[in-house]
Amino acid sequence: MAMYIVKDECTSCGDCEPICPTQSIVKKKGLYAINADTCTECEGDFDDPQCVDVCPISNCILPLEA
Ligand code: SF4
Ligand code: SF4
Repeated sequence: MAMYIVKDECTSCGDCEPICPTQSIVKKKGLYAINADTCTECEGDFDDPQCVDVCPISNCILPLEA
């Protein structure tokens, strides 16, 4: 299970990147993306995905397998 960033919604504000407990949010060519191989949806670290909580845009970070 992993989250992904909807590219058309993301403003590249960068707020999500430092709060990820698994360092799964990376910036590539100015765009932020989530590494699905390492994203845990914050299980074991927090009750909710921290990137979703901090992102100022609703529906910008969604579950990959929804
Ligand atoms: S859900 Fe958690 S582990 Fe996955 S990218 Fe967001 S902050 Fe990182
Ligand atoms: S917090 Fe949201 S808008 Fe900001 S870089 Fe992360 S995904 Fe994009």
